[in-house]
Amino acid sequence: MSSVLGTYARKPISFIKGKGSYLYTEKGDKYLDFVQGIGTNILGHCHQHLVNTIQDQSKKLWHVSNAFVIQEQEKLAKRLSDNTFADFVCFQNSGTEATEASIKIARKYFHKIGKPEKNRIITFEGAFHGRTLAALFAANNPKHIEGFGPKVDGFDQVPFADHEAVKKAINKNTAAIMLETIMGEGGVKVVPDFCIKGLRELCDEYNILLILDEVQCAYRTGNFFAFEKSGIIPDIVPIAKGIGGGFPMGACLVTKKVSAGMTAGTHGSTFGGNPLAMAVGNAVLDILFEKDFFKKVKTKGEYFDQGLNKIKNKYPKIIEEIRGYGLMKGLKISADTIKFIDKLIENKMLTVKASENVVRLFPPLIISNKELDESLHKIEIVCKEMS
Ligand SMILES: *Cc1c(COP(=O)(O)O)cnc(C)c1O
Repeated sequence: MSSVLGTYARKPISFIKGKGSYLYTEKGDKYLDFVQGIGTNILGHCHQHLVNTIQDQSKKLWHVSNAFVIQEQEKLAKRLSDNTFADFVCFQNSGTEATEASIKIARKYFHKIGKPEKNRIITFEGAFHGRTLAALFAANNPKHIEGFGPKVDGFDQVPFADHEAVKKAINKNTAAIMLETIMGEGGVKVVPDFCIKGLRELCDEYNILLILDEVQCAYRTGNFFAFEKSGIIPDIVPIAKGIGGGFPMGACLVTKKVSAGMTAGTHGSTFGGNPLAMAVGNAVLDILFEKDFFKKVKTKGEYFDQGLNKIKNKYPKIIEEIRGYGLMKGLKISADTIKFIDKLIENKMLTVKASENVVRLFPPLIISNKELDESLHKIEIVCKEMS
């Protein structure tokens, strides 16, 4: 019996090494990995530049307190702010810490400008913002909150994609609207550009902040951020999963205006932004900033999309819908989703489930067309087997 607390429904497979798009078991079985640590190993397993970076940094300096200036952290923050909407970045260790920091920053901003009554956040049904208490009750998923009360107050939830409901929920206490640009756990549900724009307009009209949770979708859609496509600028963006290429890391990006209340002593983290993590975060950006990298992600995403659509057209009773864009995709399955995933495993391909019977596909951004073809072949085999 395992001594690990049983909070996960684990598949009985274990791996001893990974390289690029593949994972290997002790027996030497090779799996095409489209889980990639739930979209965290954005450059695949053991990318040479990340391996070299972590080896070099581990000989120099692992951890120092945020009581001192951390050069790698300064460098990563500068690169993130130079290349995005953000003016400042605060580093965390995980996605849930990044979303919680976002909530704190939004509240503190209104406190600072003399409107402390503006402290409530509007969220959407089906959202996922992490597993710490505030993030849990922000998303308010009945399955996740059961038994974890008392409820953390401060959130007003509305149905997904219901603009009128959002409008109605806004009152003098509203500080922010928080949503995922693409709902990951919720089923790779893309929030349409016109909705994002509409929410930005509402926020401007009522002087509230827009928090876009890009913990899952950042870096992955062929742009730096998924919201870029909509042309708007958010106020606060928490990111995590992919930004460390598999090393635990989170960050919260903010504009100068919104950062006003976050002075020395208002927020902190022992580990957040330590030299080892920051070196890896910088190494990920080295690769992402290579010429045409995002363009290639877009092209690969379109190639993958075409292949998936062909299979969907051939097996419309198995695949109901293809969701997502770039290299963040979801297949809405009309058949038994668990069986679909298990059959993919039999065919040596790994995927992960989301809500609404969606199978998530997270190829690493460095994937080749040949490997995408291999995945399409395996998906087609499973569709055939299940027909
Ligand atoms: C995964 C996820 C989180 C939580 O991240 P952790 O690193 O597991 O704490 C928060 N928001 C979104 C959108 C996520 O996908």
